[in-house]
Amino acid sequence: MTTSRRVILAGGGHAHLAVLADWARKPLPDAECWLVTTAQHTAYSGMLPGWMVGYYRAHELLIDLKPLAEKAGAKLVLADVVGLNAAARTITLSTGEQVRYDLLSLATGGETDISCLAALGGRLLAAKPVDAFMEHWSALLDRASLLTPMQVAIVGGGAAGVELALAASAALGRLYGHSQVTLVTPSEQFLEGHPAGVRRRALAELERRGVVLHLAQAAGEEAGLLLSNGTFIPCDGVIAATGSRAPQWLARSGLELSNDGFVAVGGDLRSPSHSAIFAAGDIIARTDRPVARSGVHAVKAGPILASNLRAALGGGALKQYIPRSRTLYLLATGDQRAILSWGPFSATGRFVWRLKDWIDRHFVASYTERANDGQQETGIGYA
Ligand SMILES: Cc1cc2nc3c(=O)[nH]c(=O)nc-3n(C[C@H](O)[C@H](O)[C@H](O)COP(=O)(O)OP(=O)(O)OC[C@H]3O[C@@H](n4cnc5c(N)ncnc54)[C@H](O)[C@@H]3O)c2cc1C
Repeated sequence: MTTSRRVILAGGGHAHLAVLADWARKPLPDAECWLVTTAQHTAYSGMLPGWMVGYYRAHELLIDLKPLAEKAGAKLVLADVVGLNAAARTITLSTGEQVRYDLLSLATGGETDISCLAALGGRLLAAKPVDAFMEHWSALLDRASLLTPMQVAIVGGGAAGVELALAASAALGRLYGHSQVTLVTPSEQFLEGHPAGVRRRALAELERRGVVLHLAQAAGEEAGLLLSNGTFIPCDGVIAATGSRAPQWLARSGLELSNDGFVAVGGDLRSPSHSAIFAAGDIIARTDRPVARSGVHAVKAGPILASNLRAALGGGALKQYIPRSRTLYLLATGDQRAILSWGPFSATGRFVWRLKDWIDRHFVASYTERANDGQQETGIGYA
């Protein structure tokens, strides 16, 4: 007689969608499957800038996990994982419950690092989690008075920070006819990892939109940002796009972690210290090669993760997630154009936006339609 083993997916975001789809296609044999995640809907971050400007309605970028979990035969538990004891094979939930697992897959993403901005209090909007950001951004716009233009700053010069600055400027421009948006980033972090052509194109877009760029460090104060160059910027709202830091609860888990606290995994996405744990997406640090924390890699690792979870239960070889040498990034400019970044190549235009729009809509629809009994293949997401 075989006893069923409990397999828990922690986090219902980009990396785990392909696993749910895999289970929906072919149930895991002799397994009791759980999906533990914060909220019933997960947001596709690539469409967030377009939502801010009004090109998408909220429901167009939200994926309902309830029907997906049902199709996958997984019990949906809406709670946060707040603790992990890797030796005892238990996770602790925000409800206080301790749950045993036989196999655990971690993809709860990273946390936005807001430590140097916390003094801003209610003026601070973290870019992630995306659903909370959407609520805070809507509330900020509701507070906007048409008489006094709102001042918004974005801290963080990665792709997300640049897109959010351009989107905020476009959204406020629609409201007031002009906008007062500032982007603050240390110069070495401005579109780090992207070719010079992309940085040049982004600078031109920021200038065209009237976004003021400060190459400096920012610290939050009650009424705005104090920059390392001595400038004080009063702000009604500050968006933190400061990148991911590791979830704090990992520190006491006993799992092998990277120096900065992320889950160490090899190319097979398995923990070298605890074979019952796999992980993917923004929560990991690869031990074999550096891989950027981005939706592209979270999405593309998903099918490998699905295959390896199946192999870990039923025997069989584990696959490796080998990132392509070049990754395609498409950065929305807030006006139905976008900047393409691929290896050393860059381009800007409406055709790039059309490509991005198609990829993004196709990705969300593939999970929405799957849940509605559609037969589409898993979306390609972020190309
Ligand atoms: C504005 C913006 C735009 C972006 N655009 C792009 C882009 O164009 N291209 C690109 O490649 N990347 C982009 N990214 C990055 C991309 O969003 C992330 O790299 C990707 O979401 C990581 O996927 P993940 O599965 O690790 O985590 P997520 O997709 O963040 O999923 C995490 C899931 O876990 C849940 N969760 C969180 N904490 C817990 C917990 N403690 N317990 C249980 N559940 C939990 C969350 O609710 C969520 O469902 C963007 C990010 C932002 C902020």
